Amino acid sequence: METEEPQAKQTLLLRGYDPAADSTAINQAGQILRGGGIVAIPTETVYGLAGNALDPSATGKIYAAKGRPSDNPLIVHIDRLEEWAPLVRELPEEALLLARKYWPGPLTIILPKSALVPDTTSGGLDTVAVRMPQDPVARGVIRAAGVPLAAPSANRSGSPSPTTWRHCVDDLWGRVDAILQSYDCRVGVESTVLSLCREADGRLCPRLLRPGAVTLEMLQGVLGEVTVDRGVLEHLEDGEKVRSPGMKYRHYAPSAEVLLVAGDREQYRAYLRENERPGEYAVCFEEDLPIVELPAFPYGRREDHAAQAREIFRLLRELDRLGAKKIYIHAPEKDGIGLAVYNRLVRAAAFHVVVLPEET
Ligand code: AMP
Ligand code: MG
Repeated sequence: METEEPQAKQTLLLRGYDPAADSTAINQAGQILRGGGIVAIPTETVYGLAGNALDPSATGKIYAAKGRPSDNPLIVHIDRLEEWAPLVRELPEEALLLARKYWPGPLTIILPKSALVPDTTSGGLDTVAVRMPQDPVARGVIRAAGVPLAAPSANRSGSPSPTTWRHCVDDLWGRVDAILQSYDCRVGVESTVLSLCREADGRLCPRLLRPGAVTLEMLQGVLGEVTVDRGVLEHLEDGEKVRSPGMKYRHYAPSAEVLLVAGDREQYRAYLRENERPGEYAVCFEEDLPIVELPAFPYGRREDHAAQAREIFRLLRELDRLGAKKIYIHAPEKDGIGLAVYNRLVRAAAFHVVVLPEET
């Protein structure tokens, strides 16, 4: 269900680089949020569009400004561990173990929700996703607002996530109450989303719904077995059970057609040679720049997944500005944060992946 277009409104640009020096901007943001308004704020993952998570009118504004389908639930951001218990029906030991190890940080944990969380925040599900961000400005804003904040990525739904405050201006100017100017996002892809719900027999079943900078390997280190939801890497057919509604849409996508090309350096070069046309671009690993003939943008070295994560959304937006018609992206490896990068890119490509055969 698409939400209504909001009226154009005046957007404030608040300068908030340093929570100590810029407490005015943070307090102003807090005041807007307490009054039921919505503000784009920095987090270490991507910029978030924040509103009071417990106020259906505020979350309604978030859905409308983003053009986000209302069945796609929002992540609730907290500042202190004590704020978690009132939002959920139970806090299993495993959840606390993870929080102690990876909070504050880019990990979102899903548990059965309490009555405090409105259905509009949970997209009608009976669970709630919670995270404690690390970015000091984000934390300052939550504290100043005095309420948990729903904060999905501060982009128009479907477009690449915003990793700089300018991206928020491009997407949301005139649609939100304020945008907080701060640093570029350190991580660059959205948080890891892990469900810790119980099966019918009462067993806890950790399930990775969206990979991020807290990697599958890190989660397995704490929990042992973790199921990777099929939606992480595969396209779910209409009617299939979707555990994370955000994963069913074409997503993170620029206007250009995106093709993910999996293969080694030589195969990638040869594939581009055979297929490239004017107006097309390559997004390749740094070390492959010299061998690619199309205009090419590097997104980190092949093994540097953290750099790929930081760069990828900014590059997709830049290629849009250049009017790119088609983008050939050299597919990242799927280990560590690479799984998160691959997950975002395969959606940007609407699951168009060319897997080049191994030489025999
Ligand atoms: P975003 O807010 O843009 O970072 O997206 C939030 C992601 O978390 C989306 O993919 C949502 O579908 C997912 N999510 C949030 N809450 C839940 C929940 N209760 N159950 C399953 N997925 C959730
Ligand atoms: Mg998003």
